[in-house]
Amino acid sequence: MNRRHLSSFASLFVGLTLLAPLALRAQAPPDFSKVEIKTTKLADNFYVLEGQGGAIGVLPGPDGVFMVDSQFAPLSEKIAAAIKQISDKPIKFMVNTHVHGDHTGGNENFGKMGVTILARPELRNRLEHPSPGANGQPGVPTPPAGLPVITYDAPLTLQLNGEEIHLIPAQKAHTDGDTFVQFVKANVIMTGDFYRSIQFPNIDRTNGGSLPGLIAALDAVIKTAGPATKIVPGHGPVVDVAAVKAHRDMVIAIRDKVAKLVKEGKTQEQVVAAKPTADYDAKVQQPGTTADRFVGQLYAELKK
Ligand SMILES: [Zn+2]
Repeated sequence: MNRRHLSSFASLFVGLTLLAPLALRAQAPPDFSKVEIKTTKLADNFYVLEGQGGAIGVLPGPDGVFMVDSQFAPLSEKIAAAIKQISDKPIKFMVNTHVHGDHTGGNENFGKMGVTILARPELRNRLEHPSPGANGQPGVPTPPAGLPVITYDAPLTLQLNGEEIHLIPAQKAHTDGDTFVQFVKANVIMTGDFYRSIQFPNIDRTNGGSLPGLIAALDAVIKTAGPATKIVPGHGPVVDVAAVKAHRDMVIAIRDKVAKLVKEGKTQEQVVAAKPTADYDAKVQQPGTTADRFVGQLYAELKK
């Protein structure tokens, strides 16, 4: 081993030593250098980008690019490069569907590129004053460049690139700052994470999510979509409205089972052990540990 190798080995070792406590706290951070951005043309003049994190939507055109969500900060350059392949116009607007870092982590980078960010005021507030992480570590506030500059409490319409874009608030669903986005001409709806076509639902109660809001949000998508509407979930494959209806019915069926057990005076451990999701475990893709998490959230929502 020559000297150069030795010093790079030494710095690697120092790096690992410094990183170890972080890795323990943050559990296996993804290796962003290996992530590739995959672009799919979903409709006339509408694209979906997949990398690591939530789905990104892209509407290109002469007025400038409109995008939905920003994934993680280390991916911003790759995402911007993938958008350049679609359009040589600057990115003008971005809307955030909700506060989670896999949807807003790149905000500061895109803000510094001159992108105007739109979102609900609740989301802006949570970016400025983030909740502690799952392990209790304090959240990191988003710098001013990454904060939404246009906020809205009611549906907001943008006329851009010949498209009509509706930003539709969903109150207290996955979080308290959710928006779903309808592209009328492309006939596409992006839901953010109150609907995902993989795993059981996640009611993030720490960030203001609620069970009635989750069901109301699913109902709102079902009401807004037509039979041919392409629905892009926060995570998972693109689906149609029938899949969202089945998902809503599943949420209600599991809710009713948990409600019965709560009424019988069962503890959370007993409710989880009763496996109220059993009828759906085989139908849900990549369930992982999300069945028990969802049941725990239902218990907390119904017990209160
Ligand atoms: Zn989320």
